[in-house]
Amino acid sequence: MIKYRLISFFFLFYCAGAVSQVVEFKNVGCRISSKDISYVERIVRFESALYNNLFNTRSNDSLHIKVTVFGNPDEYRGVFLNETGGKGHGTNGFYSHRLNESFLYKRPEYLQTVVHEISHCMLAHNFSRAPRWLQEGMAEFCETLTIEDNKIVFSAQRSRINSVVHTVKGQPLKLREFFNSNRWGEKAQTPVLYDISYAVIYYLIKKNPNTLKQMLSYMGEGHNSIDAIEYSYGGFYNFENDFNRFYKNTLVKVF
Ligand SMILES: [Zn+2]
Repeated sequence: MIKYRLISFFFLFYCAGAVSQVVEFKNVGCRISSKDISYVERIVRFESALYNNLFNTRSNDSLHIKVTVFGNPDEYRGVFLNETGGKGHGTNGFYSHRLNESFLYKRPEYLQTVVHEISHCMLAHNFSRAPRWLQEGMAEFCETLTIEDNKIVFSAQRSRINSVVHTVKGQPLKLREFFNSNRWGEKAQTPVLYDISYAVIYYLIKKNPNTLKQMLSYMGEGHNSIDAIEYSYGGFYNFENDFNRFYKNTLVKVF
């Protein structure tokens, strides 16, 4: 697996931020080891520094983060049903805006889900009306953060990137349509939308995180995603072309 050190842009902020981020875990019908808790707390400190940097704030350091972990998937689905009205099949966790709390069940890779859901919590704190692609793109990016050799690294999500590479090799992705359409309610579309959302964030962070930062600032003023890209990237057309070229040429060596 390809790993990247998060240096410069994010890393400097991480070093500067020494505030301890507290995550309040609740475990229902399962045990959470102290090793898992300290692992999550370390990643979340980084996540918090990342959001602080993207939104020019320090407020994420003192966010109250609540995570409930169920041992029994049916209990988890019961909460999912209560909060969303959906059945929750095919989901591993969710963040409730109403309760400002994340819920998940303890599958073997549950720590990834914890980090994913905490990203939703942080984004909601900084940008309450963030479009869905941004919510999921950021959360999918954050869930690849891990600690290796005592360093925070992020890795490429191969399957999502491969899916986008496969698509753009057929024909370029029409990103204007992607940002304009709202097909998140269509179950069959969901995996593709996750893939593209992640690919957009991955591309922006690899190319220049400052562009993403400018975009967020512009979107925070009420502009839509396309206008924000137009403004911060130097033209939406350029962004779309560069994005398609990046994935078509598979400059990301994920195979
Ligand atoms: Zn999510």
